[in-house]
Amino acid sequence: MNGLRTSFPAVSRNEALARGLAAQFLMLMDPTVEELSDVKTAVSEAVTNAVVHAYRGRKGEVSLEFSEADGELTVSVSDTGRGIEDVELARTPFYTTAPEAERTGLGFAVMEAFMDSVEVESAPGRGTRVIMKKRIGGNA
Ligand code: ATP
Ligand code: MG
Repeated sequence: MNGLRTSFPAVSRNEALARGLAAQFLMLMDPTVEELSDVKTAVSEAVTNAVVHAYRGRKGEVSLEFSEADGELTVSVSDTGRGIEDVELARTPFYTTAPEAERTGLGFAVMEAFMDSVEVESAPGRGTRVIMKKRIGGNA
């Protein structure tokens, strides 16, 4: 088991930082170019959600964890923001609570498409944690 745990302020410039950390961690797992791109995209969507929805412009932190065991990557993105009342509804494609911005409501759908599994734990007023898993490097 190998892992990395970090946290940073929930501001949009740190979305690029999160993508970079995802790439650096994944490089230790000998990924394909496609796997690298998939994981960066999924992490970016989850971190963007924490920045945009969890704190709505207020100050807050995003926690990011990467771990690997037996060729499987686990990524956890969590915040202590407003939380999600109805997770199933929030995961529905095109559902968004921010239609005024350039949101299309496809963030969770993208995470699901690019990762093997996506789990969402959330409590209103307490925060949200997204746990994503993906097997890396089929011939390891
Ligand atoms: P897009 O990701 O396409 O820009 P979006 O962020 O609205 O649009 P999703 O990422 O699928 O779409 O998220 C759906 C909805 O789930 C959001 O509109 C928001 O209401 C809620 N949500 C997602 N992540 C969080 C979070 N970390 N905290 C609070 N609410 C969230
Ligand atoms: Mg989103």
